[in-house]
Amino acid sequence: MKIIGIGRNYAKHIEELGNKRPDDPVVFLMPDSAILRNNDSFYFPEYSKEIHHEIEIVIRINKVGKNIEEKFASTYYSDFCLGIDFTARDLQSKFKKEGLPWTLAKGFNGSAPISQYFPIDKFGDINGLEFSLRKNGEIVQDGNTKHMIYSIDALVSFCSKYMTLKKGDLIFTGTPEGVGPVQIGDRLEGFIKDQKVLDFEVR
Ligand code: MG
Repeated sequence: MKIIGIGRNYAKHIEELGNKRPDDPVVFLMPDSAILRNNDSFYFPEYSKEIHHEIEIVIRINKVGKNIEEKFASTYYSDFCLGIDFTARDLQSKFKKEGLPWTLAKGFNGSAPISQYFPIDKFGDINGLEFSLRKNGEIVQDGNTKHMIYSIDALVSFCSKYMTLKKGDLIFTGTPEGVGPVQIGDRLEGFIKDQKVLDFEVR
């Protein structure tokens, strides 16, 4: 399976990082070794001093698809989860400055913790879904999928033009504003609406 990440998909997050609003979705890939499950602890890697949390809604592809039209896109996913797209911001900034790929800043071991999966309509409309992240008990990110620049269907359609989507592939759909650093000892809790679905520590 592949893990597709989407960057710059919420306007206020683009502003907070001083990035430009994209003409097309910003797409990157992560290896499956980035996945962290079952609320396992995240181990802060030695090669970064600045790991940021990015809470995101993650959809799971349910069948093979290429060149998917946006109007049919919703038939290509039937469940989703909450995830964190941990980003080594110091490495990413360096790579961006040098015009180099972000891969190591995004796809390192454990950089993609995910919750259990839920049916797509479990919490109501996936395109108007509240989700949030607490760090040590305090809300640090609070988003709603209705604020995405590119909708989930638009992302599925766009990605499938370049990469054939396969059953089990994940798409991290981008983070709202409020990204920030984590430190060893932090406790992170992720919520979909009022339901806690992620709860783990940084070690
Ligand atoms: Mg992200």
